Amino acid sequence: MKLEGKKALITGGNSGIGFATARLFIHEGAEVAITGRDQKTLDAAVKELGLKAVAYRADVTDSNARADLFSKIGQRFGSLDIIFANAGIAGATPIGSADEAVFENIIRVNLTSVFFTVQAALPLLNDGSSIILNSSVIGSLGSPGRAAYAASKAGVRGMARAIASELSPRNIRVNVVAPGAIKTPIWSRGSTPPKKADELTAEWAAATPLGRLGEADEIAKAVLFLASDDSSYVQSVELFVDGGIVGSP
Ligand code: NDP
Repeated sequence: MKLEGKKALITGGNSGIGFATARLFIHEGAEVAITGRDQKTLDAAVKELGLKAVAYRADVTDSNARADLFSKIGQRFGSLDIIFANAGIAGATPIGSADEAVFENIIRVNLTSVFFTVQAALPLLNDGSSIILNSSVIGSLGSPGRAAYAASKAGVRGMARAIASELSPRNIRVNVVAPGAIKTPIWSRGSTPPKKADELTAEWAAATPLGRLGEADEIAKAVLFLASDDSSYVQSVELFVDGGIVGSP
């Protein structure tokens, strides 16, 4: 098992990519704390994940909730070896009509909160810890109507490089996973009007060289690589897991 004895935090672990990663981490021997805002899906997730999982309801944008979260994780686990900063939202911000509050909220959830989650976790992080931030191919490619999302995800890449330099002396690794289009509930939560989720995902599948959307489990496997000692000399990279979207001409 690749994560025997390790303790991990996965934000947004009650859905999609975060949940698939929690399931794989536990299969590989880790204890996992998952977070999200929705108590019902947190309860359902922890029931499915079993005794090595614990769920905490916490909004990543709320500094008091973050402090409370790490206090509880400290009491339960004592320390942490892995953080997967995965919670995120999509949302439409077309240049002609985007609302400032919507724009700022996307940046706050996807970028600012990632930074302050890592900051709040620092006292708990063991020597040799691995931090993985969830970006997106959209951070490199852009996408019509998604300026705030693209900016937030490009920001995550830059931020990872800065944090990696700062934390290398503590032997903490910081890397980024950048998924392509993955089958998760995010499409129906944040599709760009007037396009429906089905229409958007069909467009992405057609634009992906491998000709299909990815599965959440396929991202989880890449996160496992970055979280485990298999990547012990991998620092400050962005790993695209995207069916070839970014790498193809
Ligand atoms: P989901 O919508 O399934 O998951 C999003 C998760 O984020 C949920 O668990 C949600 O929990 C949590 N979340 C959202 N806002 C907050 C908040 N304010 N505080 C705490 N938790 C929050 O989508 P995915 O699994 O697809 O998304 C996971 C990550 O992957 C995101 O960062 C997304 O940008 C990224 N990604 C996804 C791609 C895809 O095609 N699916 C492609 C590229 C990147 P709750 O609702 O309970 O708050």
